[in-house]
Parts: sequence; structure tokens; C-alpha cells
Amino acid sequence: MTLEEITEQTDLLRLPKYRAKQIYTWLSRGAEDFSEMTDLPEGLRCQLNEIFFINSAKIKKRLASRIDDTVKYLYVFYDGSLIESVLMKYHHGYSICVSTQVGCRMGCDFCATGKGGFIRNLTPGEILSQIQTAQKDNGIRISNVVLMGMGEPLDNFDNVIRFLQLVTDEKGMNLGMRHITLSTCGLVDRIYELQRYDFPLTLSISLHAPNDEIRSRTMPVNRKWNVDALLNACREYAASTSRRVTFEYAMINGVNDSARCAGELAKKLKGMLCHVNLIPVNSIEETDFNASSERKIAEFKKILEASGIAVTRRRTLGPDISASCGQLRGKYADRGV
Ligand code: SAH
Ligand code: SF4
Repeated sequence: MTLEEITEQTDLLRLPKYRAKQIYTWLSRGAEDFSEMTDLPEGLRCQLNEIFFINSAKIKKRLASRIDDTVKYLYVFYDGSLIESVLMKYHHGYSICVSTQVGCRMGCDFCATGKGGFIRNLTPGEILSQIQTAQKDNGIRISNVVLMGMGEPLDNFDNVIRFLQLVTDEKGMNLGMRHITLSTCGLVDRIYELQRYDFPLTLSISLHAPNDEIRSRTMPVNRKWNVDALLNACREYAASTSRRVTFEYAMINGVNDSARCAGELAKKLKGMLCHVNLIPVNSIEETDFNASSERKIAEFKKILEASGIAVTRRRTLGPDISASCGQLRGKYADRGV
């Protein structure tokens, strides 16, 4: 809820205006129960607990990497839904990868979340709560958020927009929109819709292939909106927001990692305000995809760079804790936990 919406409720209860502010501040800090709100009279705390329910992400499992400072959370909601978030420490501060849906209906072939199917959308509060619970658990303030966990953010459009408005609210969590990245598999109509909001966030596209032949094989969404339609939307997005679009490219041995693929990709991205992230694919149990060799990744990178394209070979964080999304939940769901 926004401060205005909380004020409507406190008005109905005939409470003074400053009570709404107090409650909003507590909620922004991740209060899970009204009894935590110690500057409210005790009777009021009990009354609020009877009327309202704070729907927060509870920690079901916390896995800390021994290799780096990555922490993976398996969260559970009131209805037993399980989702994952990953907290990462960088030199410039903390970044969190949050989920937007329980499962996903896009069915990408290499993705553990996609293999598990779709259960439900997360509410704006449930997306927000993943950040708040991690901040509280570690006594830290998170400065960067990536919508790159479980689910397709643009398939839960209205809730994600509302989440973006809440998380950047100056009176609330006050995160900078420039510190937020939204990742999509390429729902082209929604990319145009997002563009209209003119948010200065980073749009990240899970491209993973240079042409329709390969992309349609691994990502069913490409049969609806093909590579050209997607790249046109990206060009427009970059031009209208003046923000660099990021392309994620998971390197799969023998599928999308040839020099020919690199050349094709270079040709298509040439001149676009963009950045390419090369990531060795994480092998998941459900498929036999393997990561490309370091030599192949380096070759691919060189070919793109020769066309003036900015490329990063992404580090792998938390490899010992199944830190790529969908993997941990998959393990739990299989065991029926
Ligand atoms: N649905 C959105 C955001 C969540 S997926 C999207 O697809 O963009 C987050 C990222 O992880 C995407 O770039 C996705 O393509 C990538 N991903 C999924 N499975 C992967 C795997 N096995 N190895 C590497 N990256 C993977
Ligand atoms: Fe969904 Fe993204 Fe996984 Fe595709 S890669 S199935 S869109 S979460």
C-alpha cells in the first residue's frame, strides 16, 4: 500500500494522520507484525493485527556461499508458495535478485523455473518483501535490485509497475530507479507499454540466440515475437529513454556459441546503444545443455568487440549454493517440502 492508501484506512479508524506515516515507515523497513511498531499504543497494535495482515516473505532456507558473499534465500508465503532471491555483495554495495512470479509460463528450455511451470503471480508487496526480509536478516541496506529471479516480470505487468513505484517512493524505501534492472525474455507488446512510463531503469533482454532458428528452438516466446521484432523494440526503447539496453546471452556448448553465431549477432546489434553479457549456461537436471568452454566464450567476445559492441564475460556467483534461480526451489518442491 502507498502512504495515501494507508491514510485512507487510518482515516476510517479515525486515527490522527501521523499514525499512517508511522505505519508506512515501519512497513518500509520490513515489519512483519504490528506488534513490532513500538511507537503505536499497545491497544492500537492489537486492533491493527486483528484487521490487517502483513504478507511478508518468510525465510524457509538461507544458504551462504563459502566461495563469495552470495546468500541465497528460499522464501515461503502464507499460502505455501516457494520462491527464491539471491543477495550479492559488490564493491559498490548490495544487490538483490528478486522473483516476480511463482514459477513461469514462458517455458524456456534451459531454465529450471520454466521447467517447473506456472503457479501464480506475486503481488507488489510480495516482491517488495523479498528485499525487506533480506535487509533485515543481514542488517544492511540494499542499493540495487534486479528483476531476474523466478518468473517473467512483464507477464505480471501491473504488479511489477506498482512494485517499481513503491520501491522508489521517497517516503518509503527510496531506491533509485537507475539502480533497478528489469529482465525479460522478450514480450514485445509489453516492452512498448513499459517505454511509455519513461522509467530510467535498465532493460535487460534474455536474447540467448542470434537468429530465429536457434531462438525458437530454446525459447517458445520467439515464435510469437521474433528476433527482429524484439530488436526493433529494443532500439526504440534505447532511443526514447537514452538508456543502454543489456542483452543476456547464455553460452550453450554446440547450440549458440559458434563464430558464425557471434558474427550474426554482431551484425544485428551494430550501432545500437547496448551491452552484451556472456554467461556460461548453468546446467540443470532437466536438460543436457552444457556450458561453452572458456576458449569459445573468449572467441565469441572478441568477434563482438571487433564490431564495437561492449561485452562482459559475467562472473558466476555462488556456484556452491545453486544460486541460479529455480534450482533450489526445484529441489524442495520435488521433495514435497
Ligand atoms: N524471465 C525473465 C527474468 C528471469 S530469468 C527473463 O527470462 O529474462 C533470469 C535470467 O536467467 C534470464 O536471462 C534467463 O534467460 C537466465 N537463465 C535461465 N536459466 C539459465 C541457465 N540455466 N543458465 C544461465 N542463465 C539462465
Ligand atoms: Fe521464464 Fe525467464 Fe526462465 Fe524463460 S528464462 S522460463 S522467461 S524465468
